[in-house]
Formats: sequence, structure tokens, C-alpha cells
Amino acid sequence: MADHYEVLGVAKDATVDEIKKAYRKLARELHPDVNAAPEAQERFKAVTHAYEVLSDSDSRRNYDMGGQGGFGGASFNGFGDIFDSFFGGGAGRGPRSRTERGEDALLRVPLTLEEVTFGVAKSVEIDTAVLCETCGGSCCQPGTDLETCDICRGSGSIQRQVRTLMGNMVTAAPCGSCRGYGQTIPHPCVSCRGQGRVRARRSIEFNVPAGVEDGLRMQLRNQGEVGQGGGPNGDLHIDFTVMPHEVFGRVGDDLTCTLQVPLHDAVLGAHAKVETFDGSLDVAIEPGAQTGDVVTIRHKGVNHLRGSGRGDLKVTIAIHTPTKLDKEQKELFKKLAGLRADEGIKLVKQSSGFFGRNRKA
Ligand SMILES: [Zn+2]
Ligand SMILES: [Zn+2]
Repeated sequence: MADHYEVLGVAKDATVDEIKKAYRKLARELHPDVNAAPEAQERFKAVTHAYEVLSDSDSRRNYDMGGQGGFGGASFNGFGDIFDSFFGGGAGRGPRSRTERGEDALLRVPLTLEEVTFGVAKSVEIDTAVLCETCGGSCCQPGTDLETCDICRGSGSIQRQVRTLMGNMVTAAPCGSCRGYGQTIPHPCVSCRGQGRVRARRSIEFNVPAGVEDGLRMQLRNQGEVGQGGGPNGDLHIDFTVMPHEVFGRVGDDLTCTLQVPLHDAVLGAHAKVETFDGSLDVAIEPGAQTGDVVTIRHKGVNHLRGSGRGDLKVTIAIHTPTKLDKEQKELFKKLAGLRADEGIKLVKQSSGFFGRNRKA
């Protein structure tokens, strides 16, 4: 008798997927519906038997250890199953489980720029399915139990003979009475209407790390919906939205802002107190400061998401030209203009001066 691995043309250490693939490929060639040759039918039986032995981990282990992995007859009693696996599914083996993993849930959490800068602990209310406390996920009224379906006798599927062009075939379809579960609920729990779960509002707490960006998604394992029939929870995905701030912007992990400086302070130099997320900070304006000059205050930006440390606070200077002058001020500017008559108005290269100079505070 040929080795089952050779029959399927796979290696001894082939994965379940490789075995399945090899079987499907051979079955497409050798299936009696497509290949009427007697040798093909013999090979189809051998291939099918090899697949049955190797696709089940217990029988494969047994076979690997020298056992025969079942007798030849095994390839015939499960013809329905073979066709199911060949045609990609159907009822499969045995009834399906009433217990399913819950769906993932999505929560959008808006954050202020200040929360993003330092990180924040959040407590948020969410609406998800939770385990039904009345039945504890069993789906049955307390004191009652599931009953074996008397239509399919617990198998979850109904075998039917179907006439096809190729002759009679046996197919398995999920049982309509128990919807494939093999068991029915004679007295469904009234709290959850036999679902094992109910919708409820609950509050969850989590830490938002500093440095998260707009659109970043965080995953909280097993915080999503409870599954049907008391199945395990799905995950909770949290999408962060960072709300725009009136004064501060963000570039990478740097915070940015614009400081409007009166003309005379720009000319003579000054110190300004600026209210930041770190409280009041001193910003030094050098004499002769120009519009577009950037004063960098080190380590007062957003805390890095990965690793330690913070970005910088970058203060861009915008010089404010006075518009409302009284008589005396106007006279002073006129006098100044006279003293600086040499300084003309001229075109400059694009790269000179504005919007490119950096200064360290
Ligand atoms: Zn219930
Ligand atoms: Zn049934």
C-alpha cells in the first residue's frame, strides 16, 4: 500500500493547508464526475482516504507512528463530508456551536492637544453587548436546559439525496429546525430572548499615552462585544481624534505658536510671558527680531509616544506694525524716517530673511 504522503504528493512535514490544497488539486483531476477512467476512480479513492487520514491531527499522528490510520472502509462512510470539504464547506462535521466570539467594537475618542502632550487617563461610557446575567449565557430560562433537536437528532445537519446530471449525490444541509446547532431552546431566557447577551452601557477606563496622533488606533483586547451564547468578547478599537487648539499647533512632536510682537519691542528687544501647557514661560525677543524668526524653547513640546523625552515649543515671531498713531507718535516716526533715509525699499532674494531663521532661546 502506497504511503499516504506520496499519494497526495506532499512532504512528511506538510501543513494542514498544504495537505488540503494537494487534495483539492487531485480531486479536481480524479473526481468521478470529471474523470471516468477506472484507474482514476481507484486513485480518487486512495487520495480521498489519504486525505481523511492526514487532515485529522489525531489520525495523522497515529499514522505517523506506524498505525494504518483507519481501514479502507472509512473513505466511504463519510462521502457527504468529502463532498462538503471538496466543495468548500457546508455543514462540516457535527453541529455548529451556539457560542461565538463577539464582534469588535469601535469607539471614537476626541482628545485636546494638551491631553495629547502629556497623556491622559480616560473613562468613557460605551454601549456593547454584555453577558446576560439572568441565564449566564446559556440562553435558557433558569431551571431549563437545551434539548437535542428531534429533527436532526443532534447532528445539526440533514442528509439528502439529490439527483444531479452526474447521478444521485448525498448532500448535507444545516437543519432548519435548530439552524444547525443540533439543540433547541425550549424555554428561551426572557431577559436576552435566548441570545445569552444583552446590550448595556458600561464605563471603561484606559490610559491614552502621550504623543498619540490624530487617526491613531488603539486596541483593547477582549473589551468589545460579548459573543452570542456567552462566547468570548471581541476587541475594542479606539480611534483618537485630536481637536484643533485655538493657539497651539503641532508639527511632529513640536508644538507651534505665533507671538505677535509690537514694532518697538522687536526693535529694542523684550521678554514676554507666554501661557503654555507647562504654565507661564519666558520668551526672549532679541533686539532686531524679524517676522518669521523662530524662538525654540527646548523640551516643552509633545511627549514622544515611543521612548522618553519631548519635542520643542517653537514660537514664531510676527511683528505688528502699529496702525493707530497719535500726533506725537506720528512725529517721532517721521523724525526716525528722516534719520534712516538711506534705507530704501527693495526686492530681496526669496531665501533671505523671512520665515527661515532659527534661534535658540
Ligand atoms: Zn439570558
Ligand atoms: Zn436540528
